[in-house]
Amino acid sequence: MVSQAIDLLKKELPVEEGRLLLNGDGAKTTGLVLVDLVNGFCTVGAGNLAPKVADKQISEMVEESARIARLFCEKKWPVLAFLDTHHPDIPEHPYPPHCIQGTDEANLVPALQWLENDPSATLRRKDCIDGFLGSIDKHDGSNVFVDWVRNNDIKRLLVVGICTDICVLDFVSSALSARNRGFLSPLEDVVVYSRACATYDLPLHIANTLQDTIAHPQELMHHIGLYIAQGRGAKVVSEFYRIAFSGLNLPEFSARQSISSGRTEKQAPTRSPSELFKRMFLIPCVKDTSKLRVLSEVQEKEKKRIYHVLSGA
Ligand SMILES: [Zn+2]
Repeated sequence: MVSQAIDLLKKELPVEEGRLLLNGDGAKTTGLVLVDLVNGFCTVGAGNLAPKVADKQISEMVEESARIARLFCEKKWPVLAFLDTHHPDIPEHPYPPHCIQGTDEANLVPALQWLENDPSATLRRKDCIDGFLGSIDKHDGSNVFVDWVRNNDIKRLLVVGICTDICVLDFVSSALSARNRGFLSPLEDVVVYSRACATYDLPLHIANTLQDTIAHPQELMHHIGLYIAQGRGAKVVSEFYRIAFSGLNLPEFSARQSISSGRTEKQAPTRSPSELFKRMFLIPCVKDTSKLRVLSEVQEKEKKRIYHVLSGA
């Protein structure tokens, strides 16, 4: 699909992407949900539903998800990982066989395998698209996800993974409905972090050469997944920060210029002390390592000066 057409559709279906800032006590009640970061969906050549060649959106999603998972586990904040896993004799229509139990397809990607031994992580194998339904125990009806929210007193979910418009969207939609029905107390917010989500790419010209296959243009479907999640009541963020040290209560959510809406004007540089503080002392969870390095370099040099500005000294 030509980029102009995608840009036009994004304007018609705008996604307002904000920033999420974790700081203070609120951070402790945020739970991270990793959706299907398994080889069968993420690792090149790993199976029928894995990317055939290196895929930028998917590799960035894996990298960013792994970075956030590390951050959560270092803080001992709760992490729940869904792993798509199927019995070899039970197909999942309309998809070809994938993530068969006992194969490497159904295992976490290499960048996240350490999660298997991390005490902050709960791993849940699921045999359906929707992680909420996949969390139900077939014998006693209990729900691993619901119990995880309650036991960890989670007020906010941060959801990442693949596919934005399939497993991520269905899980987010079910979680929001369950919250609205009072099944997920004390959960308040469901946040989708767009840069740590991805979907697969199947352009029309390739889909036309395959039997019983419909096209799935990656960039557009990723956007539509975010758009529908937003419409169901999720918050969408394209930037995510945690605060480097405690002591200040900054607003957790802030609306931001929506890249996806097609508006291109840039925010004017802010000079206020609080903004300066944010620029200096937040740990940006972004892929841009040069930005991270620059931040850490200026941090020590400027720390004292900015602190004086903030304290009025
Ligand atoms: Zn599946």
